[in-house]
Amino acid sequence: SSATAPIRATLFPGDGIGPEIAESVKQVFRTAEVPIEWEEHYVGDQIDPRTQSFLTWESLESVRKNGVGLKGPMATPIGKGHRSLNLTLRKELNLYANVRPCYSLPGYKTRYDNVNLITIRENTEGEYSGLEHQVVRGVVESLKIITRQASLRVAEYAFHYAKTHGRERVSAIHKANIMQKTDGLFLKCCHEVAEKYPEITYEEVVIDNCCMMLVKNPALFDVLVMPNLYGDIISDLCAGLIGGLGLTPSCNIGEGGIALAEAVHGSAPDIAGKNLANPTALLLSAVTMLRHLNLHDKADRIQNAILSTISEGKYRTADLGGSSTTTDFTKAICDHL
Ligand code: NAD
Repeated sequence: SSATAPIRATLFPGDGIGPEIAESVKQVFRTAEVPIEWEEHYVGDQIDPRTQSFLTWESLESVRKNGVGLKGPMATPIGKGHRSLNLTLRKELNLYANVRPCYSLPGYKTRYDNVNLITIRENTEGEYSGLEHQVVRGVVESLKIITRQASLRVAEYAFHYAKTHGRERVSAIHKANIMQKTDGLFLKCCHEVAEKYPEITYEEVVIDNCCMMLVKNPALFDVLVMPNLYGDIISDLCAGLIGGLGLTPSCNIGEGGIALAEAVHGSAPDIAGKNLANPTALLLSAVTMLRHLNLHDKADRIQNAILSTISEGKYRTADLGGSSTTTDFTKAICDHL
């Protein structure tokens, strides 16, 4: 209904249940009249020499050009001579931060009903630098790389996110008492950035203590920023607090402001093609993409329709204890819109 040109966004439906849940997103976006035109790209069936993976160069160019995209789960084919799909995306698009909003879904009962956290994980270095080797038999080494550049970049993103999303506090999660140099540098960078944001409270929390606090009372936290490995673990812990990976959205932020939203679950081969998948995580990921585009009205409407549908409980997929199909659940969301 709007006269302005539609925004182009890249869509990777992905593998397994990917195309089914991507269809659900397309349908919900059409119903909500979101001014987005999808550029669909599938994972190729042969290796593209320009990317050394099954992802085509054109699909990466599409994300670079559009600056925003949505990605379904991808199953990396087994075999030698190519790079993992997710790794290719991360490296080629320089996706340096993984952001996961975790909030309790009203009406879907878990141990807590007051979870409202954002985890921000450094996504390019740390313990995941891929530098492991054997020194001599029986002795191996793994290198944890922390750089000032990557630490400042993710810290800057965390504070910027807090400021632009009305958040009050950023907690840097670390183990600098043991990893004095690496986590020490990470903290130093967070501290430096914090000084530029006096309106945001900054604190530093040791990872073991953070885990205990999270499971005792998740309301103690607001935005958490951390190095790669801690982020991997803590973001799954937080997903568990709200009911699991099928409900948790995420968004990857890349160099130059690229945002590639994705569900955190896999391609669920056990239920693929059976119209049983829960599209919630991909839908809520699409909502984070809309927020990145400042389409907050559309984002709010869609998010409310999803939450109301789940909360009413009449239409729920099997993973949430219901018996609805993907298409019935999607239709219920559209009816709410
Ligand atoms: P998975 O997340 O695909 O499945 C784990 C379990 O959760 C299964 O029982 C599955 O049915 C269920 N499940 C997952 N998502 C669901 C949804 N939306 N609705 C209902 N049930 C859901 O994990 P896996 O089995 O370890 O991995 C399968 C494939 O996915 C592998 O090839 C793996 O490499 C890939 N994978 C991709 C990503 C990604 O692209 N980001 C992430 C994880 C795994």
